[in-house]
Amino acid sequence: MYNFKATGKPVGSIDFDLSKNLNVDKIQYHNTILPFTHKKNKLVITLPNTVGADFADSIEIEYHGKTVASGLGSIGFDNHAKIAWTLTQPWGGRDWWPCRQNLADKIDSMDISVTCPAQYKVATNGTLTGYEQNGETHTAHYKLRHPANYYTVGIAVGDFNTSDSVITLANGQSVSLIDYYPPTFDYYKYNLKNTANFLNFFSNYWIPYPFADEKYGQVFISAKLSIEHQTMPFLSFDDIGTMAHEMAHQWFGNYVTCSNWQNIWINEAFASFGELLILEKYYSDFALKWKDYTKQSALTANRAVFVSDTIHPNALLDVPSTYNKSAMTLIMLRNEIGEAAFQKGCRLILEKYANGFASIDNARQCFEAAADTSLTDFFNKWIYGIGNPIYSIKFGKTNNGKTSITIKQTTTHPSVKFYPLHVTVRLSGGGQYKDVRLHHTQQEQVFVVDTNFDVEDVIFDPESDILCSWSKRR
Ligand SMILES: [Zn+2]
Repeated sequence: MYNFKATGKPVGSIDFDLSKNLNVDKIQYHNTILPFTHKKNKLVITLPNTVGADFADSIEIEYHGKTVASGLGSIGFDNHAKIAWTLTQPWGGRDWWPCRQNLADKIDSMDISVTCPAQYKVATNGTLTGYEQNGETHTAHYKLRHPANYYTVGIAVGDFNTSDSVITLANGQSVSLIDYYPPTFDYYKYNLKNTANFLNFFSNYWIPYPFADEKYGQVFISAKLSIEHQTMPFLSFDDIGTMAHEMAHQWFGNYVTCSNWQNIWINEAFASFGELLILEKYYSDFALKWKDYTKQSALTANRAVFVSDTIHPNALLDVPSTYNKSAMTLIMLRNEIGEAAFQKGCRLILEKYANGFASIDNARQCFEAAADTSLTDFFNKWIYGIGNPIYSIKFGKTNNGKTSITIKQTTTHPSVKFYPLHVTVRLSGGGQYKDVRLHHTQQEQVFVVDTNFDVEDVIFDPESDILCSWSKRR
């Protein structure tokens, strides 16, 4: 049953995305059976009369069939662990339910009921209101009361153990936690302390957890990728980064969603950067390693962060560009405008586009307001341009005993001629070192700095904050 309201113009027909592998049995509209067409994965239903703007109405779709996975595995089974799951992003929702695969409007609320053999548990979005026993089977009833995207609705059924508790965050929010995992799984790695700490952190760094009145849960599955289903991510990897990433998506991705897949940066830059925030806060020894890895991967990105091919899931979800270069752009942005303005900009996006959609340009405007500066050049180069800077560094002694550092920049792609950035150079000598922060604004620029030791060596960008390669020259 779908409740709908036409916003804007009156409607005479409704269309849904639904795989041709599924069979539609009946479309019921009040007491009438309606005609429909179901071709090329589109279900089009003609209404007997037009439904006026802002008029709330409803329609019922009965369908059945055997689901066929597409994309990156929209339906998954682990026969050994006895788990089945859905994993829609980006285009696989239609493989299992009639939905509207667009990022133009969110589903405002849902009731989800799933019937399965009584020995299995059901994990999905929102609040569990209870299981209804029917002999050999049982039916789980959930209700989701926050706006959600088609691709963040997911269901897992299986032989799960569960762990649940209620925590109170530092800001006073009370959140139910519930995790579902196979009995053989080393659940202790995901102790509640991490979940509670990370929720606390993001609720403080960004804004309070948007879905606190429902829950935060994690389902451990064995797919090829993890997914940020609203209030209930499905995790396929057992690392802190994945856990932090999918949690960060609750703010960027779920509460504020990219306006279309070309702007997926809104989702993936912040979620990937969220991994770093967690490492910096709780596992600081690993933060540099994470940045090194992310930077090395991002150096292989061969397209702009802004996506042009959104049809092919592998192109859209390309790891070096969509995840790692995107994360690097936020590290550099933070480095350019400073921590306070950066954090303020993040919050502005979350407040302004709450429960809705934002484009990269919308985000840029929020950061510009927070930092009180234009960021058009930064975004044009890093988001819409391709490639990265290559630095060549020379150092020497000046006549008056100071150190001169010559920084020369070329780029890897003609779409960007020059990236002006604040850069850090580490000067070392005699067992001592000093980091100097320099504003590099010209292709070849000489800086003179003072140290109280003889400089024997330099390291450019020692904290891996810049997406670049570099070398020393004589
Ligand atoms: Zn993600």
